[in-house]
Amino acid sequence: MRLDYVTIFPDFFAPLSLSLAGKAVDSGLLSVAVHDLRTWTTDRHRTVDDTPYGGGAGMVMKPEAWGAALDAVLPAPPARATLVVPTPSGRPFTQALARDLAGREHLVFACGRYEGIDQRVLDHAATRAEVDEVVEVSLGDYVLNGGEVAALAITEAVVRLLPGFMGNASSLVEESHEDGLLEYPVYTKPSSWRGHEVPPVLLSGDHGRIAAWRREQALERTARRRPDLLPPTATGTDWTIVPAT
Ligand code: SAM
Repeated sequence: MRLDYVTIFPDFFAPLSLSLAGKAVDSGLLSVAVHDLRTWTTDRHRTVDDTPYGGGAGMVMKPEAWGAALDAVLPAPPARATLVVPTPSGRPFTQALARDLAGREHLVFACGRYEGIDQRVLDHAATRAEVDEVVEVSLGDYVLNGGEVAALAITEAVVRLLPGFMGNASSLVEESHEDGLLEYPVYTKPSSWRGHEVPPVLLSGDHGRIAAWRREQALERTARRRPDLLPPTATGTDWTIVPAT
Protein backbone atom coordinates (compact mmCIF):
# COMPACT_ATOMS: atom_id res chain seq x y z
CA MET A 1 0.00 0.00 0.00
CA ARG A 2 1.19 3.50 -0.83
CA LEU A 3 0.57 6.30 1.71
CA ASP A 4 1.13 10.02 1.12
CA TYR A 5 0.62 12.78 3.67
CA VAL A 6 0.37 16.48 2.81
CA THR A 7 0.83 18.69 5.87
CA ILE A 8 2.45 21.88 7.12
CA PHE A 9 3.99 19.81 9.96
CA PRO A 10 5.89 16.90 8.36
CA ASP A 11 7.61 16.13 11.68
CA PHE A 12 4.30 14.85 13.05
CA PHE A 13 4.78 11.73 10.94
CA ALA A 14 8.10 10.62 12.43
CA PRO A 15 6.30 7.83 14.38
CA LEU A 16 5.60 6.06 11.07
CA SER A 17 9.20 4.86 11.15
CA LEU A 18 8.66 3.19 14.54
CA SER A 19 7.26 -0.15 15.66
CA LEU A 20 5.27 -2.35 13.28
CA ALA A 21 4.67 0.46 10.78
CA GLY A 22 8.42 1.01 10.51
CA LYS A 23 8.95 -2.70 9.94
CA ALA A 24 6.24 -2.71 7.28
CA VAL A 25 8.04 0.14 5.49
CA ASP A 26 11.36 -1.70 5.73
CA SER A 27 9.81 -4.88 4.35
CA GLY A 28 8.17 -3.06 1.44
CA LEU A 29 4.59 -3.76 2.58
CA LEU A 30 4.10 -0.01 2.99
CA SER A 31 5.53 2.82 0.95
CA VAL A 32 5.27 6.17 2.78
CA ALA A 33 5.97 9.75 1.70
CA VAL A 34 5.40 12.92 3.72
CA HIS A 35 5.10 16.25 1.88
CA ASP A 36 5.39 19.78 3.23
CA LEU A 37 2.49 21.79 1.80
CA ARG A 38 4.65 24.93 1.88
CA THR A 39 6.78 23.40 -0.91
CA TRP A 40 3.96 24.45 -3.24
CA THR A 41 3.59 28.05 -2.06
CA THR A 42 4.86 30.79 -4.35
CA ASP A 43 5.26 33.83 -2.09
CA ARG A 44 8.22 34.85 0.05
CA HIS A 45 6.39 34.04 3.31
CA ARG A 46 5.23 30.61 2.11
CA THR A 47 1.67 31.52 3.03
CA VAL A 48 -0.91 28.73 3.22
CA ASP A 49 -3.85 30.54 4.86
CA ASP A 50 -6.05 33.59 4.47
CA THR A 51 -9.11 35.17 6.07
CA PRO A 52 -12.48 33.48 5.48
CA TYR A 53 -14.92 34.85 2.92
CA GLY A 54 -18.05 35.91 4.77
CA GLY A 55 -16.06 36.91 7.84
CA GLY A 56 -15.65 35.09 11.11
CA ALA A 57 -12.82 34.01 13.33
CA GLY A 58 -9.72 32.12 12.25
CA MET A 59 -8.05 31.47 8.93
CA VAL A 60 -8.78 29.09 6.06
CA MET A 61 -6.21 27.11 4.05
CA LYS A 62 -5.87 28.64 0.60
CA PRO A 63 -6.64 26.48 -2.44
CA GLU A 64 -3.59 27.27 -4.63
CA ALA A 65 -0.91 25.38 -2.70
CA TRP A 66 -3.29 22.47 -2.06
CA GLY A 67 -4.12 22.23 -5.75
CA ALA A 68 -0.44 22.18 -6.75
CA ALA A 69 0.37 19.67 -4.00
CA LEU A 70 -2.33 17.27 -5.15
CA ASP A 71 -1.22 17.72 -8.79
CA ALA A 72 2.22 16.51 -7.68
CA VAL A 73 1.26 13.80 -5.21
CA LEU A 74 -1.67 12.08 -6.95
CA PRO A 75 -0.64 9.23 -9.23
CA ALA A 76 -0.54 9.50 -13.00
CA PRO A 77 -3.72 8.14 -14.68
CA PRO A 78 -4.87 5.46 -15.11
CA ALA A 79 -3.67 4.84 -11.51
CA ARG A 80 -6.03 6.21 -8.88
CA ALA A 81 -5.77 7.16 -5.22
CA THR A 82 -8.26 7.74 -2.42
CA LEU A 83 -8.07 11.22 -0.90
CA VAL A 84 -8.61 10.99 2.87
CA VAL A 85 -9.45 14.29 4.55
CA PRO A 86 -9.64 14.29 8.34
CA THR A 87 -12.29 16.74 9.52
CA PRO A 88 -14.68 16.91 12.48
CA SER A 89 -17.52 17.25 9.98
CA GLY A 90 -16.65 13.99 8.20
CA ARG A 91 -18.18 10.53 8.48
CA PRO A 92 -17.32 8.79 11.75
CA PHE A 93 -14.22 6.62 11.57
CA THR A 94 -15.11 3.01 12.33
CA GLN A 95 -13.53 -0.43 12.04
CA ALA A 96 -15.69 -0.96 8.93
CA LEU A 97 -14.25 2.15 7.29
CA ALA A 98 -10.73 1.09 8.31
CA ARG A 99 -11.35 -2.25 6.60
CA ASP A 100 -12.67 -0.48 3.50
CA LEU A 101 -9.58 1.78 3.31
CA ALA A 102 -7.29 -1.22 3.90
CA GLY A 103 -8.57 -2.61 0.60
CA ARG A 104 -7.34 0.42 -1.38
CA GLU A 105 -3.91 0.62 -3.01
CA HIS A 106 -3.06 4.26 -2.47
CA LEU A 107 -4.24 6.71 0.22
CA VAL A 108 -3.39 10.41 0.13
CA PHE A 109 -4.06 12.23 3.41
CA ALA A 110 -4.78 15.97 3.28
CA CYS A 111 -4.10 17.35 6.76
CA GLY A 112 -5.96 20.57 7.47
CA ARG A 113 -5.06 23.24 10.02
CA TYR A 114 -6.72 26.50 11.15
CA GLU A 115 -10.45 26.43 10.25
CA GLY A 116 -9.84 23.81 7.57
CA ILE A 117 -9.18 23.62 3.82
CA ASP A 118 -11.02 25.75 1.23
CA GLN A 119 -13.94 23.51 0.17
CA ARG A 120 -13.10 23.93 -3.53
CA VAL A 121 -9.95 21.83 -3.07
CA LEU A 122 -12.09 18.83 -2.12
CA ASP A 123 -14.79 19.59 -4.70
CA HIS A 124 -12.16 19.79 -7.45
CA ALA A 125 -10.36 16.64 -6.26
CA ALA A 126 -13.65 14.74 -6.48
CA THR A 127 -13.80 15.51 -10.21
CA ARG A 128 -10.29 14.24 -10.97
CA ALA A 129 -9.71 10.99 -12.84
CA GLU A 130 -6.80 10.15 -10.49
CA VAL A 131 -9.10 10.26 -7.43
CA ASP A 132 -11.40 7.29 -6.90
CA GLU A 133 -13.06 8.87 -3.86
CA VAL A 134 -12.72 11.80 -1.47
CA VAL A 135 -13.38 10.45 2.02
CA GLU A 136 -13.92 13.06 4.72
CA VAL A 137 -13.40 11.31 8.04
CA SER A 138 -14.04 12.37 11.62
CA LEU A 139 -12.13 10.75 14.44
CA GLY A 140 -14.86 11.67 16.92
CA ASP A 141 -17.11 14.41 18.18
CA TYR A 142 -14.37 16.75 19.36
CA VAL A 143 -11.99 19.19 17.73
CA LEU A 144 -8.25 18.66 17.29
CA ASN A 145 -5.78 21.35 16.22
CA GLY A 146 -4.95 19.67 12.95
CA GLY A 147 -5.44 16.64 10.75
CA GLU A 148 -2.03 15.07 11.48
CA VAL A 149 -2.97 13.18 14.65
CA ALA A 150 -6.19 12.02 13.00
CA ALA A 151 -4.26 10.86 9.90
CA LEU A 152 -1.89 8.86 12.11
CA ALA A 153 -4.76 7.23 13.99
CA ILE A 154 -6.53 6.34 10.74
CA THR A 155 -3.27 5.00 9.32
CA GLU A 156 -2.62 2.76 12.30
CA ALA A 157 -6.13 1.29 12.24
CA VAL A 158 -5.88 0.68 8.48
CA VAL A 159 -2.39 -0.74 8.08
CA ARG A 160 -2.71 -3.30 10.89
CA LEU A 161 -5.44 -4.90 8.75
CA LEU A 162 -3.11 -5.43 5.79
CA PRO A 163 -2.24 -9.09 5.24
CA GLY A 164 1.28 -9.65 6.59
CA PHE A 165 1.33 -6.56 8.82
CA MET A 166 0.65 -8.28 12.14
CA GLY A 167 2.97 -11.04 13.27
CA ASN A 168 -0.05 -13.07 14.40
CA ALA A 169 -3.07 -12.30 12.21
CA SER A 170 -5.41 -14.27 14.48
CA SER A 171 -5.05 -11.54 17.12
CA LEU A 172 -7.13 -9.30 14.83
CA VAL A 173 -10.12 -11.62 14.85
CA GLU A 174 -11.28 -11.28 18.45
CA GLU A 175 -10.72 -7.57 18.86
CA SER A 176 -13.24 -4.93 19.86
CA HIS A 177 -15.55 -3.92 17.00
CA GLU A 178 -14.65 -6.89 14.80
CA ASP A 179 -17.82 -8.79 15.80
CA GLY A 180 -19.79 -5.68 16.76
CA LEU A 181 -18.94 -6.04 20.46
CA LEU A 182 -16.31 -4.59 22.77
CA GLU A 183 -13.64 -7.07 23.74
CA TYR A 184 -13.86 -9.05 26.99
CA PRO A 185 -11.37 -8.20 29.79
CA VAL A 186 -7.92 -9.77 29.40
CA TYR A 187 -5.43 -11.04 32.01
CA THR A 188 -1.90 -12.44 32.17
CA LYS A 189 0.40 -13.86 34.86
CA PRO A 190 0.54 -13.76 37.86
CA SER A 191 -2.89 -15.20 38.69
CA SER A 192 -3.02 -13.17 41.90
CA TRP A 193 -1.83 -9.55 42.01
CA ARG A 194 -2.31 -7.05 44.84
CA GLY A 195 -5.33 -8.95 46.09
CA HIS A 196 -6.98 -9.09 42.64
CA GLU A 197 -7.53 -12.58 41.22
CA VAL A 198 -7.78 -13.73 37.61
CA PRO A 199 -11.33 -15.11 37.08
CA PRO A 200 -11.03 -18.85 37.90
CA VAL A 201 -12.68 -19.94 34.63
CA LEU A 202 -9.62 -18.67 32.72
CA LEU A 203 -7.43 -21.08 34.71
CA SER A 204 -9.76 -24.04 34.15
CA GLY A 205 -8.34 -25.18 30.80
CA ASP A 206 -11.95 -25.74 29.65
CA HIS A 207 -11.97 -23.96 26.27
CA GLY A 208 -15.75 -24.20 25.89
CA ARG A 209 -16.40 -22.53 29.22
CA ILE A 210 -13.73 -19.92 28.54
CA ALA A 211 -15.28 -19.03 25.17
CA ALA A 212 -18.76 -18.78 26.76
CA TRP A 213 -17.42 -16.61 29.61
CA ARG A 214 -15.66 -14.29 27.18
CA ARG A 215 -18.76 -13.84 25.04
CA GLU A 216 -20.85 -13.11 28.14
CA GLN A 217 -18.29 -10.56 29.32
CA ALA A 218 -18.15 -8.94 25.88
CA LEU A 219 -21.94 -8.63 25.82
CA GLU A 220 -22.11 -7.31 29.37
CA ARG A 221 -19.35 -4.75 28.77
CA THR A 222 -20.93 -3.61 25.49
CA ALA A 223 -24.38 -3.28 27.08
CA ARG A 224 -22.96 -1.25 29.95
CA ARG A 225 -20.49 0.97 28.07
CA ARG A 226 -21.77 1.13 24.50
CA PRO A 227 -25.45 0.08 24.35
CA ASP A 228 -25.66 1.93 21.01
CA LEU A 229 -23.61 -0.89 19.44
CA LEU A 230 -26.21 -3.55 20.26
CA PRO A 231 -29.20 -4.26 18.03
CA PRO A 232 -32.37 -2.66 19.51
CA THR A 233 -34.14 -6.03 19.70
CA ALA A 234 -31.32 -7.82 21.55
CA THR A 235 -33.31 -9.27 24.40
CA GLY A 236 -32.47 -12.85 24.97
CA THR A 237 -32.17 -15.27 22.05
CA ASP A 238 -28.64 -14.96 20.75
CA TRP A 239 -27.97 -11.85 22.83
CA THR A 240 -28.16 -11.95 26.61
CA ILE A 241 -27.94 -8.45 27.96
CA VAL A 242 -26.89 -8.09 31.56
CA PRO A 243 -28.33 -4.85 33.01
CA ALA A 244 -25.94 -1.98 33.65
CA THR A 245 -24.50 -1.84 37.17
N1 SAM B 1 -13.33 24.73 11.93
C1 SAM B 1 -13.35 23.29 11.92
C2 SAM B 1 -14.72 22.80 12.33
O1 SAM B 1 -15.33 23.42 13.20
O2 SAM B 1 -15.15 21.77 11.81
C3 SAM B 1 -12.31 22.73 12.83
C4 SAM B 1 -10.94 22.92 12.33
S1 SAM B 1 -9.72 22.11 13.32
C5 SAM B 1 -9.27 23.36 14.43
C6 SAM B 1 -8.33 22.00 12.25
C7 SAM B 1 -8.16 20.68 11.56
O3 SAM B 1 -8.02 19.66 12.52
C8 SAM B 1 -9.29 20.22 10.68
O4 SAM B 1 -9.25 20.80 9.40
C9 SAM B 1 -9.05 18.72 10.62
O5 SAM B 1 -8.05 18.42 9.68
C10 SAM B 1 -8.48 18.42 12.00
N2 SAM B 1 -9.49 17.89 12.93
C11 SAM B 1 -9.97 18.49 14.03
N3 SAM B 1 -10.84 17.71 14.69
C12 SAM B 1 -10.92 16.57 14.00
C13 SAM B 1 -11.67 15.37 14.17
N4 SAM B 1 -12.52 15.20 15.18
N5 SAM B 1 -11.50 14.38 13.28
C14 SAM B 1 -10.66 14.52 12.23
N6 SAM B 1 -9.93 15.65 12.01
C15 SAM B 1 -10.05 16.65 12.89
